[in-house]
Amino acid sequence: MTATIIDGKATAETVKNQVKDGVEYLKTEYNIIPGLATVLVGERPDSKVYVANKQKACQELGMNSIGRQFNANISQAELLDVVQTLARDSSVHGILVQLPLPDHIDAETILNAIPIEKDVDGFSPINVGRLAMKNREPMFVPCTPRGCIYLLDQYRTKIEGARAVVLGRSNIVGLPTAFLLLHRNATITICHSRTRDLPDITRQADILVAAIGKPCYVQADWVKPGATVIDVGINEIPDATKKSGKRLVGDVDFEAVKEVAGAISPVPGGVGPMTIAMLMQNTLTAAQRAAGLIK
Ligand code: NDP
Repeated sequence: MTATIIDGKATAETVKNQVKDGVEYLKTEYNIIPGLATVLVGERPDSKVYVANKQKACQELGMNSIGRQFNANISQAELLDVVQTLARDSSVHGILVQLPLPDHIDAETILNAIPIEKDVDGFSPINVGRLAMKNREPMFVPCTPRGCIYLLDQYRTKIEGARAVVLGRSNIVGLPTAFLLLHRNATITICHSRTRDLPDITRQADILVAAIGKPCYVQADWVKPGATVIDVGINEIPDATKKSGKRLVGDVDFEAVKEVAGAISPVPGGVGPMTIAMLMQNTLTAAQRAAGLIK
């Protein structure tokens, strides 16, 4: 039986429409326009694309997009000043520093300059710490992990009591996704590059989240029949049939795994669009909080 395809693009559109309504309401009732500042350093093509997509989403939803772009040789002190200025600006409700930063800049110092109430990426140690703890609420849940859970809920995947395996333990994807699943009472196994006998572990998963950055790595016989597979990976591989000579694939061998899984998110069109939708929602939340409308 072929798996249900988890349509992240359509789900993200629905979320963005709800955010758009929220933005419109803030504007007409309170004369507030949510503002998201993006800080981009250097010329990495992937970072440029990510930032451009986030700015485009802001414009589509009626939010202000405040773009700050710098050469890779900007000094740490200058960059810190930029972020501190944005932190003080009351028209800026969310600040996003696109990672990675050049080697001469200490990313931790820069990220620490983002006030927690504007940390719409949810990457600050305080946010992640709260996410890790029982009975604590983070200001913002990191966007990609939140998008994964949203998709599971949207497709009515039972999380409580499920065995969930998360491949990858990064601070921005693997670890927060595991925390979120744990809070929803799944039983979690986190795997990483030193995990032995990976297929034996993944085969036990009712929910399998792959976030390792290895193209088509997860094979069909690693997946329990009927499992729900969320593919976070975004990898470029050569493809002579495409005009660009390349295409995007996930961390899962989609064509093979969809014949075994019960449901699977594709790449592109799965988690990627959800990440942006969740960022927009977090930015709206930041603006609503700044106006004292919600906690
Ligand atoms: P990182 O490189 O920070 O982390 C990768 C993780 O995978 C590490 O924990 C690493 O283990 C683990 N890993 C690497 N190789 C293996 C292996 N062979 N077996 C098991 N585990 C392995 O990546 P990110 O978490 O930032 O991103 C992961 C993927 O998700 C990438 O493809 C990225 O492009 C994509 N991504 C997609 C987003 C979206 O919006 N869809 C957003 C963010 C990322 P160890 O800790 O031991 O090194």
